Amino acid sequence: MSEGILEVRKKSIMVKNTGCSGDGTGIDCEKASVSGAVSQRACVYCGARVVLNPITDAFHIIHGPIGCSSYTWDIRGSLSSGSEIYRNSFSTDLREKDIIFGGAKKLTAAIDEVVDKYSAKLIFVYATCIVGVIGDDVEAVCREAENKYKIRVIPVKAEGFSGTKKQGYKLACDAVMKLIRPYKITDKKGQHGLNILGDFNLAGEMWLIKNYFKKIGIEVVSTFTGDSSHENLLKAPQAALNVVQCAGSSMYLANQMEKEFAIPFMKVSFFGIEDTSASLMQVAHLLGDEQVIAKAEAFTKKESARLRKFMAQYKPKLAGKKAAIYVGGGFKAISLIRQFNEMGIETVVVGTQTGRKDEYEIIQNIVNDDTVILDDANPAELEYFMKIKHADILVGGVKERPLAYKLGIAFCDHNHERKHALGGYEGVENFTKEINLSINSPVWEYMTAI
Ligand code: SF4
Repeated sequence: MSEGILEVRKKSIMVKNTGCSGDGTGIDCEKASVSGAVSQRACVYCGARVVLNPITDAFHIIHGPIGCSSYTWDIRGSLSSGSEIYRNSFSTDLREKDIIFGGAKKLTAAIDEVVDKYSAKLIFVYATCIVGVIGDDVEAVCREAENKYKIRVIPVKAEGFSGTKKQGYKLACDAVMKLIRPYKITDKKGQHGLNILGDFNLAGEMWLIKNYFKKIGIEVVSTFTGDSSHENLLKAPQAALNVVQCAGSSMYLANQMEKEFAIPFMKVSFFGIEDTSASLMQVAHLLGDEQVIAKAEAFTKKESARLRKFMAQYKPKLAGKKAAIYVGGGFKAISLIRQFNEMGIETVVVGTQTGRKDEYEIIQNIVNDDTVILDDANPAELEYFMKIKHADILVGGVKERPLAYKLGIAFCDHNHERKHALGGYEGVENFTKEINLSINSPVWEYMTAI
């Protein structure tokens, strides 16, 4: 490995089946970032906000300086079939005087204003870093507001410094549980259909997936949190199954719902032909009768055949190219590696911000020897490995885009800001077209890496 890589980071970087494959206990992951290593991860508050933000009629009050609010304003490309209120940020805009004398009164005033002006029924109140330092009693303010207005005002104590982005996911799941817990049903016979967890309706992807379930005859009860509403979330305890797409953000919620509502869960992925078809078939076998299974078989076979024909046109243009992947969670990285395999592209570098040990084991199993695997990488590491592995394209998020362009290599945005669907069967077409356009663009011939 390069001399430039910090000694403490070396356990979080593996090269498959080489002398750098670690000490046999697997990659070092699921830990706090190394101070000073310039992690690409977002803060705890951001983790909570990205999970809760797509609830379309919820109000998000950020109790902190205005910077925390603007940092996550309309953060996802999540679409709504109803209210658009979630696309706003409300903030107490804490200033120096508030830091000295306390901001609780300002928070009460902010809640009063939101209820008064918008008749809000569901408010999430996020406490950010400085509130953790000055110690405003956010829970008491929220409790008081709930009693006063008879609505839900849920505190999310998400001080950015209090852990990793993953801690923020857990706080968001706890907030959802607080909301839906009173709606637990005692009669198991009343449970039916499924909830989709960990899909945020980016560019309408939730609608695509819901449509597949409709086609095969399975009811979707509630969605977390893409295109969901307060009313719709409260129906979630009625479902017979939870399917979990983004395990990193929603596995904790699935576990809690299993424990408290006796709803079993299964992990799914709707990225790529293989994963989408396998997920639909698994759900059909679990929830459906013979008719549902037959419908699912016919649908997945038809879509797979159509897409394999579509992809055959692109394979000659893509075969032999090399990809680097740096995404939020392990489940997405796994699906992307499989999608690249289907295109004839080899993944030479793969990393995630919050991948779990079991996900890294799967990654290690499905990549070729010599592939570099990183957890919680920084820009210097990504740059070094992309260069020495001669990657032709980087798939990542908004923070990785300038890095790819600086190196003169192609880039594909697979993060939550994107405005085009990359999930489901339609997503396979979009993704393949985008990879081809980007990787084979003539512009790269005129670029030299800085
Ligand atoms: S919560 Fe803290 S780390 Fe996160 S945006 Fe606000 S100040 Fe920054």
